[in-house]
Amino acid sequence: MDKKKNGLNTICTHAGELRDNEFKGAIAPLYMSTSYAFDDVDVKRYPRYFNTPNQEALGKKIAALEHTEAALIFGSGMAAISTTMLAFLKSGDHVVLQQTLYGGTYHLIVEEFNKFGIEYSFTQGWRPEDFEDLVKENTRVIYVETPSNPLLTITDLSRIAGIAKKYGLISMIDNTFASPVNQNPIDFGIDIVIHSATKYMGGHSDICAGVVASTQENIAPIFGLAKNLGGSLSDYTVWLLERSIKTMGIRVKAQNENARRMAEFLASHGDIQKVYYPGLPDHPDHTIAKSQMKGFGGMLSFELNESLDARQFQKALGLIKSSMSLAGVESTVLSPALTSHALLGAEERKRQGISNALIRFSVGIEETEDLIADIEEALKKVKKVHKGQLQ
Ligand code: PLP
Repeated sequence: MDKKKNGLNTICTHAGELRDNEFKGAIAPLYMSTSYAFDDVDVKRYPRYFNTPNQEALGKKIAALEHTEAALIFGSGMAAISTTMLAFLKSGDHVVLQQTLYGGTYHLIVEEFNKFGIEYSFTQGWRPEDFEDLVKENTRVIYVETPSNPLLTITDLSRIAGIAKKYGLISMIDNTFASPVNQNPIDFGIDIVIHSATKYMGGHSDICAGVVASTQENIAPIFGLAKNLGGSLSDYTVWLLERSIKTMGIRVKAQNENARRMAEFLASHGDIQKVYYPGLPDHPDHTIAKSQMKGFGGMLSFELNESLDARQFQKALGLIKSSMSLAGVESTVLSPALTSHALLGAEERKRQGISNALIRFSVGIEETEDLIADIEEALKKVKKVHKGQLQ
């Protein structure tokens, strides 16, 4: 299949398709074998070599979705992130990372990199100059996350790619929040794209996986390390993930639309102090977002007015669940100060603009009206509590 000629939903459904040539079934067969012949075969297959039939097929779909030559599937987003970074960094090297990183990635850096003798610097902000200022003689990698978690800041991908080219660095992006439906960083010159497939690719909050996509040349050293570290994904989950991605285009587009409508509703609501959504024209990075994203995504954050208790509000929600992860078809909220960013400490959170009142909202595919009604109802409840009318 020519990936350039087909549209998004056709790629999601068919790219890399593993055909059932024996029984002519409509969907991909599942090859659970961990043991394959070694005599008279072109490829020696083994799950930890990332080359079982289902792993290879899904790799082709991911590569088509991210406009790359190749992709590898991992047992988690963190397995993909750690393997990819360590494939390009050795003792004495330096990496420049965006300040607002997913918590797990931040912990990987600050808890493990010293052991490997790898130096790192975190930017003060997300502007390209914040990254360029930190580049040193021994810098090898530049790592970004856009849209960022939880304030949905946007980093200019073309300018980051330009900095990487200028200094001969490898640029990497965690593209999880956007998904390949909304953003293809390779088209802006970024070298390597990583996802926690646990999020929009899985989309149903029941799969833990990660992916890396790039050129064959960049995938080769990642594969070299990956087979030694052993972070491959079981074929059953690979098969489930392939099935989930078939609906990713329609799911994510529905989430984009729901999130836009929720952002507009919240921004015009008297009980809401602030809304962070790159699709809103008054978001400080809206223009960059428009230039590099095809949709603004299903994630947004907001703050209630100071007089309202954010925790009570989350507890008062009915349809919308409080939940740690994101990107499922069901809407969820969390408090970054209590969960993903708790370990940063109050001072650093304040510096990054993450208040205790901030609520991160992963918008699902429910009817918008039902989500709005749930929020209105929860606001009414917290207001009553404040007036002492409810116990
Ligand atoms: N990147 C981002 C933006 C995430 O939100 C997460 C998980 O929440 C990860 C990476 C790590 O992915 P996983 O939990 O699949 O290892």
